[in-house]
Amino acid sequence: MTVDDHPFTAEQKEYLQGFFAAAACRPFVGHFANGRITSDPASGLPNEAGEAVFGTPVEDLCEQELWKHEQNGLDIWDTLVAHAEANRLPDKKNTFLFRFHGLFYVGPAQESFMLRLRTPGGELTSAQMRGLAEIAKDWGGGYAHVTTRANIQIREIQPKNIIDVLTKLQQLGLTSRGSGVDNLRNITCSATAGIDPAELIDTRPMAKALHYYILNNRDLYGLPRKFNIAFEGGGSIATAAETNDIGFVAVKVGEGKSVEPGIYFRLQLAGITGHQQFAIDTGHVIRPADSVAVAAAIVRVFNEHGDRTNRRKARLKYLIDRWGTEKFMDEVGKKLAFPLQKLPLADCETGHPPIPHGHLGVYRQKQPQKNYIGVAMPVGAMTVRQMRRLADLAENYGSGSLRLTVWQNVILPDIPDAFVETVKRNLVRMGFHYEASSIAAGIVACTGNAGCKWASTATKAHGVELARYLEKKLRLDRPINIHLTGCPHSCAQHYIGDIGLLGAKVNDHGAQVEGYHVLLGGNCIGDQKLGREIFHGIPFSQIPGLLEGVLTTYLARRRPNETFSDFTARHSVKELQELFSA
Ligand code: SF4
Repeated sequence: MTVDDHPFTAEQKEYLQGFFAAAACRPFVGHFANGRITSDPASGLPNEAGEAVFGTPVEDLCEQELWKHEQNGLDIWDTLVAHAEANRLPDKKNTFLFRFHGLFYVGPAQESFMLRLRTPGGELTSAQMRGLAEIAKDWGGGYAHVTTRANIQIREIQPKNIIDVLTKLQQLGLTSRGSGVDNLRNITCSATAGIDPAELIDTRPMAKALHYYILNNRDLYGLPRKFNIAFEGGGSIATAAETNDIGFVAVKVGEGKSVEPGIYFRLQLAGITGHQQFAIDTGHVIRPADSVAVAAAIVRVFNEHGDRTNRRKARLKYLIDRWGTEKFMDEVGKKLAFPLQKLPLADCETGHPPIPHGHLGVYRQKQPQKNYIGVAMPVGAMTVRQMRRLADLAENYGSGSLRLTVWQNVILPDIPDAFVETVKRNLVRMGFHYEASSIAAGIVACTGNAGCKWASTATKAHGVELARYLEKKLRLDRPINIHLTGCPHSCAQHYIGDIGLLGAKVNDHGAQVEGYHVLLGGNCIGDQKLGREIFHGIPFSQIPGLLEGVLTTYLARRRPNETFSDFTARHSVKELQELFSA
C-alpha cells in the first residue's frame, strides 16, 4: 500500500506542510554548522531581582525598565490566559509586557490587539500563509499587512482570542515571541536569497540560525531598547542593512589579503535612520559561520552596558557614541571564542549593485527555467482572500514558498517559465501590480493612526489615496519610493525614501489638521543619502498636488538617466523649494 492509495485530505496536507516547514529548520537551533558561539555561554548575566540591573541602581531605572525588573515579559502566559478568559484589555504595564509575545494593544486607536509575527528571512510556506489568513478571518479584521521588517501583522484581535491566536501560530510552526518592545526584532535577509543569480551568499541559513538562537536564549530578551539585525547577501535586491543596529553585508575577499580568501560579511553597526544615522562599517570581516556568535556577543554587550535610565538614549547608537567603536568591539571580542579580524574595505569586492525595486516584476532565478515574480501591494495590505490566493499561486505554480520584503511586498519564487504568464494574469485579477515603476509599488507606510497611539496621521489610507491620485496624473519610467511615517519614531523610515512624509498636526487656516513635513532625496541603496526637509507642515489635502508637481518637474528637468535622489542632491533646499513651488 502506498500513500497514493489513501491520499491525504487538504487539512492533513496543510498540517504536514506546516510540520515539515518547522522541522526543516531544526538543524539550526542554537547552533550553526561549524559556528563557535561565545567563550562563555553564560556570559549574558541573568536579569535577576536585586538592587541593580546590569549595574544601574533600581531607583534610577526608567518606568519600562522597572516593569521588566518586576516581571520578565516571557513569563506572563498565565496573565495572558486570565485576560483572554475575562476578555479584558491590559493596563499600562501589561500593555508593555504583552508585546514580548507580539501582542500590541493599540487603544485608543482600536480597542483590540495587533499581532506581530516573527518570519525569519521573510520566508513563509503556502500552508503558513493560509493559516495566517484563517487567523485574520476568524479572530482579526479580515486582512493583514506586510511590514518593513519583512514580517506580517494582523489587527483587530479581541482579548478573548489571544490564546487561540498564539497557539494557532505555534501549530503553523510560527511564533510572535519577542517581536515587540525591547527585543530583537524579526531577522531580515535578502528577499531573493538562494534564488538570485547575482548573490555572493544565500543568507537564509544565517538569518534562521540567529532566529532560533534568540528563541532559545532568554538573556537575549529584555534589552535596553529594540534591536534590528539584517543579512545582506550581495545580490541585486537590497535589504536596507544600513538601517539596522547590526548589518552583515556580504563581500568577497580574494587571494593575497590578510585573511583567507572567501565570502565574508563586513560588520556595520548602529544604523538608526529615525535618528539620521546609517550603520557604520567597523572595519571587521566576519566568516558567515561565525555571524550568529558575533551577533549574540554584540547583543550581550549592549544588554549589559546600554542605558536603562533614558529611553531616548537607550539604542545601540548611544552606547557606541559614548564608548567609540573600538572600545565597543574590544568588549565584543572578549565574549568570543575566536579573534575578530579586520580588513580594509578596499581589500574586499562588494556585491552586485542593487537594482532599484528589483523585488518587483519577473526575474530569472539562478535555478534553470525558474523565475521569481515580485508583487506590489500598496502599503503592504492583503485581504484574507488575497492571502489565500497568493498561497494557492505559490502552491500550484511555484514551490509552495512565499517571500516577504522589507519594502512591504511579496515575492513568489520558483515559477517555471511555462507558468509565468498565468501567474501574472492571476495577480492582476487579484488586484495586484507587478510592474516596478508603478507608483503603488513604491508606497511604504507605517501603521498610522488607525492603530498606533503615537500617529498624527492616517499614513496607510493617505498612502493609498496618494498612489491612486498620482497614478491618474503621471507615469514614471523608473521606481520612486514614497515613505509615510506617522511620527518621528520613523517606523516607515521617511529619511530613506525618495520622498519622505513625516506626519504632524498642522495648521490649515486656523484649524489643526493632519499633514506632513516633506523630505526629498533619501536613498539607502548604493549612494546613501538622508532626505532633506523641503516643505514643513503641509496639510494632507495639498500633498497629492504638491507631489504631482515635484514628480512632473523632476521628469521634465532631470539629466539623462538621473535618479530622483541625484536630481535633488544637486540642488540646495532653497532651490528645490523654488523649483517645486513654481
Ligand atoms: Fe506609530 Fe510612529 Fe511607528 Fe508610525 S512611526 S507606527 S506612528 S510609532
